[in-house]
Amino acid sequence: APNGRGNDDDIGSAAKAHFVFVPLMYQGHVIPAVDTALLLATHGTLASVVATPSNAARIRPTVDFARQSGLPIRLVELPLDCAAVGLPDGADDVDKIPAELHANYFSALELLAAPLERHLRSHPPYPTCIVSDFCHAWTVGVAANLHVPRLGFFSMCAFCLLCQHNLERFNAYDGVTDDNEPVVVPGVERRIEVTRAQAPGFFRTPRFDHLADGVERAQAQADGVVMNSFLEMEPEYVAGYAAARKMKVWTIGPVSLYHRHAATLAARGNTTTAIAADECIRWLDGQEPSTVVYVSFGSIVHADPKQVVELGLGLEASGHPFVWVLKYPGYYDDAVREFLGALEEHVAGRGMLIRGWAPQVLILNHAAVSGFVTHCGWNSTLEAIAAGLPLVTWPHFSDQFWNEKLAVEVLGIGVSIGVKEPVVWQVAEKEIVVGREVVEEAVRSIMEGGGEGEERRRKALALLEKARAAVQAGGSSLANLLDLIKRFEVDTVRTTE
Ligand code: UDP
Repeated sequence: APNGRGNDDDIGSAAKAHFVFVPLMYQGHVIPAVDTALLLATHGTLASVVATPSNAARIRPTVDFARQSGLPIRLVELPLDCAAVGLPDGADDVDKIPAELHANYFSALELLAAPLERHLRSHPPYPTCIVSDFCHAWTVGVAANLHVPRLGFFSMCAFCLLCQHNLERFNAYDGVTDDNEPVVVPGVERRIEVTRAQAPGFFRTPRFDHLADGVERAQAQADGVVMNSFLEMEPEYVAGYAAARKMKVWTIGPVSLYHRHAATLAARGNTTTAIAADECIRWLDGQEPSTVVYVSFGSIVHADPKQVVELGLGLEASGHPFVWVLKYPGYYDDAVREFLGALEEHVAGRGMLIRGWAPQVLILNHAAVSGFVTHCGWNSTLEAIAAGLPLVTWPHFSDQFWNEKLAVEVLGIGVSIGVKEPVVWQVAEKEIVVGREVVEEAVRSIMEGGGEGEERRRKALALLEKARAAVQAGGSSLANLLDLIKRFEVDTVRTTE
């Protein structure tokens, strides 16, 4: 099988640049990193993607398909020493790690440094650049030892990064005792308010705090940033972030627009979807154009059982056809499962439940779909933008409150569900249940919504045009991608340092 263990060393061996991607191995990070690697490879650059076994298994079909089409892309599979950090063997699959052990998982990832360095030294061509997820502070050492530049990879918007950075550099939380007190973000023209609970800073939460300073240092020292965003959507924030960090920012997104084939789109992020792509498409084909609302909270949120019931009843009451994804069906007890079964019967023909992984980008781009209830993970948000859809924004944690503010306040394409406090990490640690009436009203306002609804839709479609233009010939994202390659090309292919 094609992997990093030797039999594909001829692939891309004559390329003038070799980008090594080290994604954080959660799907919201792996998916955009793989898309970016594919994009670079379409321009003749060798791209290697580092992954531990479970993650390698998820992305191998995508990588294989690309290689069969002649793209110079490699998968570097490295085992993870789980036992060394108190994780059960084989726990490199984040779906299988209990919430309280994710910090151990981050420690295990640091152990990849030495094997990665060895691998890169012994599998030419020598890397010309390491593109590592901003969470991987340990890659600073790898790049330094190899004497190669290191870029930070963000599947986040510049708006979020600049606002968060400004809160920290201007000490905006100093003296704020109440985590739910609104604070004005300094150093940006628009008045944006946020609370420390919503935006504590990357890794500034109890279980992860020990990583926060290292991550910030690694960012400050990076040789540049590759960002899954596009300039025309948020020009002032891209420029502001580059200026604040004093580093080059290459916006190259939306990377989901790279995919041209339904087959690779359906396999994006996972080898197996809970529903066959063609079955899903057939169901959507049976709905009227622009009538269906798509509901999903991404790859890690475990929706609270009570919330699942309220959400289901709200969707039913809205009267609109829907596709609803529940990522972790096994998480719910019999009562919730019975509720879901009964709901499916009530809404037969009008509502579809997907229990597990859904072919999201295929769904978002189907002509029947015209709205998205999202947790505002950045990938989901940008995928919706790249499909021209208005949003109901329902942030849970991490950068999601920023993404909501961007969608609702800056871009004018979203309606907030009204949640003001995060549920912490993947499982709710605090009960925050949005009632069925609120769900119903929010869905109605994006799907109907009168003049305001039309205005949101008009803005979403205008943004879609800009997104498409950015990745086409003459567009800013494509120009950035080509510039990125040029910067890290070498004249002669090196096989060693
Ligand atoms: N995704 C998918 N099917 C699913 C759930 C998620 O294809 O059933 C993809 C989605 O298209 C996006 C990514 O997984 O690319 C989730 O990333 P996001 O940043 O939206 O949220 P996260 O999962 O990181 O919270």
